[in-house]
Amino acid sequence: MAQRGLTRTYQESRARFLDAAAAAGARIESFPHPRAGLHGETLAIDVAALGEPDATAVLLIVSGTHGVEGFTGSALQHHWLDRVTSSDASVQVPSGLRVVLLHAFNPYGFAWVRRVNEDNVDLNRNFIDWTREPPANEDYGGLAHLLVPDDWDDDTQQQTTLQLLAKAEEIGFSRLQEVVSGGQYTHPTGVFYGGSGPVWSHHWLDEHLRRVVGDATRVGIIDLHTGLGPWGHGELISHEGREAPGYRRGTAWWGEVRSMVDGESVSANLSGDWLGAVESMLPGVEVTAVALEYGTVDTVTVLQALRADAVLHATGEPLGTGSDAVRAQVRAAFADDDPAWFDAVVARFDEVVDAAISHLPA
Ligand SMILES: [Zn+2]
Repeated sequence: MAQRGLTRTYQESRARFLDAAAAAGARIESFPHPRAGLHGETLAIDVAALGEPDATAVLLIVSGTHGVEGFTGSALQHHWLDRVTSSDASVQVPSGLRVVLLHAFNPYGFAWVRRVNEDNVDLNRNFIDWTREPPANEDYGGLAHLLVPDDWDDDTQQQTTLQLLAKAEEIGFSRLQEVVSGGQYTHPTGVFYGGSGPVWSHHWLDEHLRRVVGDATRVGIIDLHTGLGPWGHGELISHEGREAPGYRRGTAWWGEVRSMVDGESVSANLSGDWLGAVESMLPGVEVTAVALEYGTVDTVTVLQALRADAVLHATGEPLGTGSDAVRAQVRAAFADDDPAWFDAVVARFDEVVDAAISHLPA
């Protein structure tokens, strides 16, 4: 029987993905990352494609935009490849469509069990227009020292957490979420940092997206995420407003899609997400893109894990004493090893992917 569920390491996820892609007869390309992983392993973005090379429609399924969230995304890609190769072949790529699986868009974060990349950058805050001033998030500065204090002993954790909760009381939880997670460009060791220019994965997309898409005139994108929303629930999130054609196509394919812009989503409205940049990279192509966001634990537990991770890396000792515990805390915030969680996640994934496959070919 095929392995199912989440692995413990990036290496294991990558090996399993490449094996399953080869077994499915996919065309595979690997793009090495300049840095090494937690265990010294090679890092790469791996791209596996199935279906006609000159198809006019492409479905792109992406894992690991947020590093550690790739444990789930990779397992889902592996699950899909297994469906293609299984004896009952419960899924087939129809004529006119190519399915492209992009494994570990942020491979460094995946391998190091971080949501951010090698520069402490949140990839989904990095796709802003770098020819202009980055968006301002003035209120972040007042919280920066509370979110990522100088050390992480029990006293400091307790005190800073109480102060953050008091702040939530004062300005409201959703405003606090916006300030903390909306993106900031001023505190490089902080949380939800957008960077000071395009990062490695951003450059990779600029360079390769056009070729990945090929001749397609219609592109669907499902970007797999975890860490927001109710346990096991998969919310579809659009970066577009409700009036946008892409948003409307999304609701025609999938039913309910929540708009981040119109404040309907579990996600705060944020700056610099990569899906929002795709249309400008693919002029003339009809793009229908969503994030599929699965809930794990509650928001405060997720934030505590991200703070612990940020402090660990701000101190420059990511392999120091206690660092494995922090990585375990981060993994637990973004991936759940309970088979019931993965069953729910898979069922939703199949529904979303199957709907895209049935709507995409012209
Ligand atoms: Zn995410």
